[in-house]
Amino acid sequence: MLRNSLLWASTNPFLAERLPQYRFVQKATKRFMPGQEFTDATREAQVLQERGIATTTTLLGENLTSLAEADAVVAHYQEDLRRISELGLDMEISVKPTQIGLDFGTDEARDRLAQLADSTDSLVWVDMEGSEYVDRTLDIFRSVKEDKGNVGLCIQSYLRRTEADLESLLPLDPAIRIVKGAYNEPESIAFPDKGDVDRSFVKLAQTLLQARLSGAQGRVVLGTHDPRMIAGTMRLAGELGLGKDHYEFAMLFGIQRDEQDRLAREGHQVRVLISYGSAWFPWYMRRLAERPANLWFVARQMVG
Ligand SMILES: Cc1cc2nc3c(=O)[nH]c(=O)nc-3n(C[C@H](O)[C@H](O)[C@H](O)COP(=O)(O)OP(=O)(O)OC[C@H]3O[C@@H](n4cnc5c(N)ncnc54)[C@H](O)[C@@H]3O)c2cc1C
Repeated sequence: MLRNSLLWASTNPFLAERLPQYRFVQKATKRFMPGQEFTDATREAQVLQERGIATTTTLLGENLTSLAEADAVVAHYQEDLRRISELGLDMEISVKPTQIGLDFGTDEARDRLAQLADSTDSLVWVDMEGSEYVDRTLDIFRSVKEDKGNVGLCIQSYLRRTEADLESLLPLDPAIRIVKGAYNEPESIAFPDKGDVDRSFVKLAQTLLQARLSGAQGRVVLGTHDPRMIAGTMRLAGELGLGKDHYEFAMLFGIQRDEQDRLAREGHQVRVLISYGSAWFPWYMRRLAERPANLWFVARQMVG
């Protein structure tokens, strides 16, 4: 109920315009994002890198109103990539297909993703958005993967279709980030039961680890804060005789910091996703929906 309300708020343009103007709201976001500027993200990335943790960064901002805005997003990321290499950071970028023009056509988004892939030797990650975008996101990913190679894809374990999607992607030897999924989806499309979402997550991880065992090179990234998913992956890898270089953990900035450090200290590959930008409201509401207990944190900012 609370989760649904928060997800509803995440798509409400009135709230998106009003709430961010309040100082307490701005203050409360600090827990999950270091600031609105790219320099805020790189500052924290440097701190994390010293602790053995790599990063991914993403510019917050959702559906656009023109292709000129998509071009501006591409130019913005290209400048980020230039700065990342100048600073010598182990930082990758992750982009939302709608931010690079998917609402204006698959070719439009595909061409812009290809431009980004051309701008770096690192991997460019493609986020997965609401279920209405999955087919088109798979199309642009496949096309750029075949052409350029250096792209990775996020898949969501809550979607009933994802297991079949992953099977169809395996011949490409893809780099995959598995997450549970953050959007409000109907039962016909996504598992309503958390147990099923978790089982699907483990199954997807198993498929990718098996592929590694058979010689696949595509990176296997587990995007989760869930201790059971983390321990489960380690157990699976151990059973298959795969070392720590065969999988990576990815978490969001500010969430489970101790766990991030513990995993890095134990020699696991850990990457933290740092978001920045002014359009943070829908994204922030989705983070609260994942864990309504964080509302207490927001409430404390209002009085503290
Ligand atoms: C690197 C990365 C990239 C992502 N990219 C996408 C994407 O492209 N598309 C998409 O739909 N989703 C994406 N997500 C979000 C993802 O789908 C989940 O909504 C989110 O990770 C929460 O699920 P979980 O597996 O961490 O654990 P959950 O099952 O939600 O929670 C398990 C446990 O993790 C901890 N936890 C989880 N969330 C929080 C929180 N907000 N605050 C504090 N503790 C928490 C708690 O201990 C909780 O009990 C991404 C997540 C990560 C980490």
